[in-house]
Amino acid sequence: MQYDHIVVRYGELTLKGKNRKIFTTKLGENVREKLKGFSNIKVNKNRDRMFILLNGEDPEPILEKLKDVFGIGSMSVALKTENDEAAIKNAALELLTKKENVKTFKITTKRSNKEFPIGSQTFNHVLGGYLLSNTNDFTVDVHHPDLEIHVDIRNDATYITSEKILGAGGLPVGSSGKTLLLLSGGIDSPVAGYLTMNRGVQLEAIHFHSPPYTSERAKEKVLDLAEKLTYYGKNIRIHMIPFTALQQKIHREVPHGYSMTVMRRVMLKISEAVAKEENILSITTGESLGQVASQTMESMHAINEVTNYPVLRPLVAMDKEDIIKISEKINMYDISIRPYEDCCTVFVPKAPKTKPRLEKVLQFEAHLDYEQEIKELLANKEVIETSSLRKKSKEFDDLL
Ligand code: ATP
Ligand code: MG
Repeated sequence: MQYDHIVVRYGELTLKGKNRKIFTTKLGENVREKLKGFSNIKVNKNRDRMFILLNGEDPEPILEKLKDVFGIGSMSVALKTENDEAAIKNAALELLTKKENVKTFKITTKRSNKEFPIGSQTFNHVLGGYLLSNTNDFTVDVHHPDLEIHVDIRNDATYITSEKILGAGGLPVGSSGKTLLLLSGGIDSPVAGYLTMNRGVQLEAIHFHSPPYTSERAKEKVLDLAEKLTYYGKNIRIHMIPFTALQQKIHREVPHGYSMTVMRRVMLKISEAVAKEENILSITTGESLGQVASQTMESMHAINEVTNYPVLRPLVAMDKEDIIKISEKINMYDISIRPYEDCCTVFVPKAPKTKPRLEKVLQFEAHLDYEQEIKELLANKEVIETSSLRKKSKEFDDLL
């Protein structure tokens, strides 16, 4: 027996009413993009399912790739038949007898094609009876079967499936707009990016670096992380911001207890400018409440005051251990722990204020006059796309 299709069931997007088409179209695009290495297959989608015609391709590596596509609820390999009783019986018999370690089964028929002459309950009995009388070793168990055979009788054809493989869930990347992710080389921000993608958001990234205090290898680390993130979504544009001069100025002119707060505010200000320039409607960070000095409630309040742009913090209520688990699951962790310096740690004061007072922040910042520097630095920023990195990365090709 050779499965001829993979049936893909949509996840949460089936709840989306009139907008459903936007979501299914995005998912179709993302699935085609993900599977472009499989030249024989054909992807067809309709309102409630996607059908991938295998044309002889092995389903396993395809399923492996689809597991990471957001917007998929579940998947199954399938046998397609005509809407014909005898054909369905044959296919179901083949499926049952080729399975190993199966003693009990159950049939679940769904008949959306009302022209098919037998109702779904009756067909469960008809097909069950047929399978029992054409085999010796099986019994029916409707409560805890070893194998549940699903028969989906649709308008154009019938699909027979058994096991469901869980998809990544969430919404298709690109269906909820874009965010600008503040991407450091740490553990948290790539996880924040991943979780945001899970809600259908496409990423663009911004990274602040301070050469020569931060090295080429620190920059490479960030690009490697962005590249890994691409695996779960689309091409990512990374805005590399040369931050040295401005950081030095902050370091020189702001009392050290407050320099970190001011530096974070300036980072947000620059991020807001880039987001506006790129028509991106939100900023995302990897901040988690209470993790470090800049992430106390008082710090977040003082830092956030600089912008009225929406700042998404998907990790805000998560424990570090849980963040690390996700980081490992998505293969970021080993990159994140490479020991290279980050611009924010190079200039971080020994004792940053954990409860900065906003009026003081504003007072110190008033002397700083950084508008001109921001303009220059935006003019000098480098934009790198992960699609251009991909060609260089053998590891990534293997992943794709
Ligand atoms: P991460 O693990 O993401 O680096 P962290 O726990 O080290 O986070 P911070 O260094 O305080 O915490 O950074 C908080 C957030 O600020 C990061 O999650 C990231 O979104 C942003 N950030 C920090 N450094 C940079 C940087 N050099 N470029 C861009 N964003 C940064
Ligand atoms: Mg960090």
